[in-house]
Amino acid sequence: MSDELGRRREQALRAAVGHGLVSEDEPVLGLLDVAGIGESVTALQAAFDVPGVPVTHCFAVKAASLVPVLALLGGYGMGAEVASPGELAQARAAGIPADRIVLDSPAKTVPELREALTLGIAVNADNPQELARIEALLERTPSVSPIGLRVNPQVGAGSIGAMSTATATSKFGVALRDPGAREWVLRAYAERPWMNRLHTHTGSQGVPLELMAAGVRAAYELAEQVNAAAGRQQITVLDIGGGLPVNFGSDAITPSFADYADLLRAEVPGLFDGRYGLVTEFGRSLLAKHGTVLARVEYAKSAGGLPIAVTHAGAQVATRTVFAPDAWPLRVLALDGHGQPKQGPDVVQDVAGPCCFAGDLVARGRALPLLAAGDHVALLDTGAYYFSTHFAYNSLPRPAVVGYTVGPDGTVAFAPVRHAQTRAELLAESGAGLPPLARP
Ligand SMILES: *Cc1c(COP(=O)(O)O)cnc(C)c1O
Repeated sequence: MSDELGRRREQALRAAVGHGLVSEDEPVLGLLDVAGIGESVTALQAAFDVPGVPVTHCFAVKAASLVPVLALLGGYGMGAEVASPGELAQARAAGIPADRIVLDSPAKTVPELREALTLGIAVNADNPQELARIEALLERTPSVSPIGLRVNPQVGAGSIGAMSTATATSKFGVALRDPGAREWVLRAYAERPWMNRLHTHTGSQGVPLELMAAGVRAAYELAEQVNAAAGRQQITVLDIGGGLPVNFGSDAITPSFADYADLLRAEVPGLFDGRYGLVTEFGRSLLAKHGTVLARVEYAKSAGGLPIAVTHAGAQVATRTVFAPDAWPLRVLALDGHGQPKQGPDVVQDVAGPCCFAGDLVARGRALPLLAAGDHVALLDTGAYYFSTHFAYNSLPRPAVVGYTVGPDGTVAFAPVRHAQTRAELLAESGAGLPPLARP
């Protein structure tokens, strides 16, 4: 499967250059492997497919907030995990039904909560204040929304601090090991018989599977405690979050959804015995390996003896890699003017982006065939949190995104996912058309 992935990507990159999808006018493009996305969804569904256990796989919209992608996932039966009014609107625009949407942000406003409860979308309260708001809204207007509580099992950090949701002092959820917290949670459920879900999202890039499983186990044990105290199955659905890490070092898909589900089966067997429905919220692991940034090399120069390729892919499409290069290294392919792998001996060089700050580099001191003006570069594994999560530095436009499928004869078909941001859209978003600020 991973060989296939690389082969399809190579064909798509060549075809994208051949079809002129990158040009002087649009020198950077996001590509998505439509078949690859389908393979990942199928692998996820198979991994968690246990007879008698209803599972709703909700895609974490922030990982790829592109409506045609959400619609593709919805077509496979997936739902959506949303964390803002914009993400909710995107999920709804993609046709995801309300009973497959979960709202999870840490800063939900009253209007947001009201909208979710009106639509019947599941809501996970982040903290006691938010639970009180939900309760007040429900007293006025009943709702079919399932209501859960997010807990932080405080099982510890992974290798990337900014990605670790389950540390002792994480901002997310109710910190379960804090003094009095467990007692508060038990009381909250006892006093609110309509609370019927429990949520944790422990993993992310850099978090080992064992730590993720420990977080799920803590949530499961808490649900058992709530249900025992209630004398009934009050919590009917466990939302185990997402966070499966992705291998950015090769085309191998590791760890797999099956690896994680097997570990959960071993560590938390009760999760799959049919008493609980499950919700998952995977993002990166579904999309990352199916996306590629393709960009033109505008210039190739040298400074202090170091060759530097100045490309059109920088912080605007690879924000995390540029600002935290050690945590988010990306593979970079050197391609020639036809979008084919560039030949030649490896030369240590920097691969820079177009932004006007010195640190705008997507690879530092990387050994690659020497890039020249008119060549291309491809940033691999960028299907999640890269081109879909544009950073508007230097007013660089959001690049176009296309989906590709490769036929049995090798022909590549492209489908639009998002057009490049136009000059007019860019101006409108920067207040053009509004009156000048008046001098006081
Ligand atoms: C970001 C997020 C996810 C998805 O995380 P991935 O690492 O992309 O799988 C799921 N649930 C919640 C609550 C999140 O904040």
